[in-house]
Amino acid sequence: MNNVLSYRRTGAPTSEDTTGGRRLPLVGRVGPAVLALWLAAAAPLAAQVPRPETVLGFRPGADSMLASWAQITDYFGRLAAASPRVRLDTIGPTTQGRPYLLATISDPANLARRASLIAAQRRLADPRTLDSAAEARLFASQPAVILISCSIHSTEIAASQMSLELAYRLATDSALGAALRDVVVLLVPSANPDGIDIVGDWYRRTKGTPFDGSSPPWLYHPYVGHDNNRDWFMLTQPETRHLTRVLYELWFPEVVYDIHQMGGNGSRLFLPPFADPVNPNLDGTLVEAIGHVGTAMATALADAGRTGVEHQARFDLWWHGGNRSAPVRHNMIGILSEAASARIASPVQLRPSDLRQPARGVDFPLPWPGGWWRLRDIVDYELTASEALVRLASRERADFVRRFVGAGRRAVEAGRSETPRAYLIPPAQRDEGARVQLANLLLATGIEIFRARTPFTADGRTYAAGTLVIPLAQPFRAHVKDLFERQVYPERRLYPGGPLIPPYDVTGWTLPLTMAVTVDSVRNPVTADVERIDSLAPTPGRIAGTGDVVLLANRSNAEATAVWRALAGGAAVEFAPAPFNAAGRSWPPGTLVVRGARATLERAAAELGFDAASVPRLAAAPGAPALRRVPRVGLYKSWNGSMDEGWTRWVLERLGVPFSSLSDSAMRGGNLRARFDVIVLPSESPGQIRSGRPAGSAPPEYTGGLGSAGVEALRAFLQAGGTVVALEQASLFAIEDLAAPATVVHGGRGPREGQAAVRFSAPGSIFEVNVDHAHPVASGMDSVAAIYFDSSPILDAAPGGRAIASYRRDGSPLLSGFVQGAEMLAGRAALIEAPVGAGRVILFGFSPQHRGQTNGTFKLLTNAILYGAAQAGRTVPGR
Ligand SMILES: [Zn+2]
Repeated sequence: MNNVLSYRRTGAPTSEDTTGGRRLPLVGRVGPAVLALWLAAAAPLAAQVPRPETVLGFRPGADSMLASWAQITDYFGRLAAASPRVRLDTIGPTTQGRPYLLATISDPANLARRASLIAAQRRLADPRTLDSAAEARLFASQPAVILISCSIHSTEIAASQMSLELAYRLATDSALGAALRDVVVLLVPSANPDGIDIVGDWYRRTKGTPFDGSSPPWLYHPYVGHDNNRDWFMLTQPETRHLTRVLYELWFPEVVYDIHQMGGNGSRLFLPPFADPVNPNLDGTLVEAIGHVGTAMATALADAGRTGVEHQARFDLWWHGGNRSAPVRHNMIGILSEAASARIASPVQLRPSDLRQPARGVDFPLPWPGGWWRLRDIVDYELTASEALVRLASRERADFVRRFVGAGRRAVEAGRSETPRAYLIPPAQRDEGARVQLANLLLATGIEIFRARTPFTADGRTYAAGTLVIPLAQPFRAHVKDLFERQVYPERRLYPGGPLIPPYDVTGWTLPLTMAVTVDSVRNPVTADVERIDSLAPTPGRIAGTGDVVLLANRSNAEATAVWRALAGGAAVEFAPAPFNAAGRSWPPGTLVVRGARATLERAAAELGFDAASVPRLAAAPGAPALRRVPRVGLYKSWNGSMDEGWTRWVLERLGVPFSSLSDSAMRGGNLRARFDVIVLPSESPGQIRSGRPAGSAPPEYTGGLGSAGVEALRAFLQAGGTVVALEQASLFAIEDLAAPATVVHGGRGPREGQAAVRFSAPGSIFEVNVDHAHPVASGMDSVAAIYFDSSPILDAAPGGRAIASYRRDGSPLLSGFVQGAEMLAGRAALIEAPVGAGRVILFGFSPQHRGQTNGTFKLLTNAILYGAAQAGRTVPGR
């Protein structure tokens, strides 16, 4: 077994014969170690290939029945043990420690030469490595490789159940077996295994109750919920990283098919062609091929009598970050299907009057008549589409292989002939951690990066040794170019002068802006003495000077981490209120002065890569916001399953900021000031925060929101000197319910849309703001910053409040993406300190931690917490 990535084979030891059809005693979470034990005990008898229903006790897709992840793992293990066409690997643990599975299904002769097939895919992915003889040989012999990814969104659960039957059919059907001589199927039974149990457990718990078929009151990915399909360039979560390795390090499939579900009363299934707009970085031939695969699937569905398939609706080819959009920027055919949902596993009945289908037309030729719609219907549609893909890839094997090579060639050629020729990332940056993270996430997605060994000149500028060089003459050019350039979203309207057609997802994502990493694009070819790198570690930092008073410029996020470590060790921390001179240089207001933690900070500087200075003594500035102990931070966690809460939790944990999650009942219990200095409210609408899930939509303990008792408790917390940090929509709640002095110019998304939304729209764009340096919350920031605005509220400070960041007075602040009605932003505030009682609310009119991508503004959140705790500390005697 040649394991390129040293994956662990997890074939289960027993077959149906040796267990007499019993299920293996596999419940709850199963780690790779447990699976390896099975292997050690293996009695690998060739046996009859087990049917899913004999192992599960029910047919996949049966009404009200869901296979758990343990059952899915069990089945695939048995299948791999019994079928020479199936190999099963665990490619890593999930966030909660379950095995992330990859089944490789092909003709046994292909599985036997798996290592050489993998090596050949790598060469096909990079046509620069192919001579004409090798190319001719591979075009004649290399199977097409397709990856099918199921149920990344866990309430869209049918595909995970379908995967069992698809695997069984691929293992046993003779016609499919013949097709597998020309095709390798990489089957991911779920791209979010934890979610299969999070949703499945909730479904089983509520089955037959009034809440049967409801969504769970928590996220179905432990941190990011539905946004797990927005993580495909940032790679923040282990599940994303596992599949990314399969895609861009191991197999380089020609097709990636990502299976989803949508709302229940429209068309039965969306398939490509996608809707406009098309991202300018996508290869046009691939766009055609996407349509080709989609219509082949749709034709197979029509042949099978399955109606209601729709094309060119809603799902577009603009945004980056999805499981089907990142592969297209790697010359792969990215396919999405979206089936109409049932109520999880419970059937629904739709009368014709319930249906909101489009009119019959070329994009919807076979309307569905209505009737019962069950989990099994979704399984059948997805099974038909998946098998159609296998058959198509077999019939057109050589075309798929040739097209993949052709797209790679065109990318390399474009990089040689078009601008920019390269991107350069200089070594000295404001945040070493962000520079390193950016390089590593590109490397993980197959981008070639070189490091200059000596200084060099490019476009007339001199660059230091250590500069990272990313030439664009490389096969996955589209990926890096789309991540680095500024997006110009092509506005689309229903008719000239009519309403805007809203983009499917965000419109801008330029990483050098969101991560605040300086990246130069170069117009001319770069000549430099370089070495290729395959990973990057931070350059260790140091603390200059002697003495126990350490001065942190607070430019990097690592310095926030270091400050929390220092506080945990008993240090005192102050925000310098004014400029001062020390250690032979001048320091701006907001400099962090840390006393009594030199050793801790030295270790952090070396590990995380920041520099600082120290002096033996420095007089404390009178009135400086100061901390004497670890801030007590509460993070509100509603029962709405808020992704913003999950991202906030993820970012705070990653930065080493300790906090407690606060439920509605904990909030309603009051006495918050005794327990917390700062309470962070993630972005949710005022209605969601106040009222939560409506009564009757979930068991009573998960409904009702903060209620008046929770609102009163938060008001009392502020009156007693506490600090509330309100993110985006939660700022509206703070203004409406907590009397934070600020005005709402535009509410962004939520109930305030409607007429105002016609005048203003910015669904996921990057804006520039001016930052008030004298405010501690802006500590370490530059005088201008790039912020992420995702239909966020537009605010203005009211008397008593103070704007910390504001939009320019004239001209558009747009840096990347799209805005309609930019004039509404002119001179308005994006970040405000608003006093309430003895306390204060820090109001964010943007997303400082957007999807874990905005390293450049994480600091505003951590500063707000530190500053908020320092100010709150003044009101507690003895602290
Ligand atoms: Zn989905």
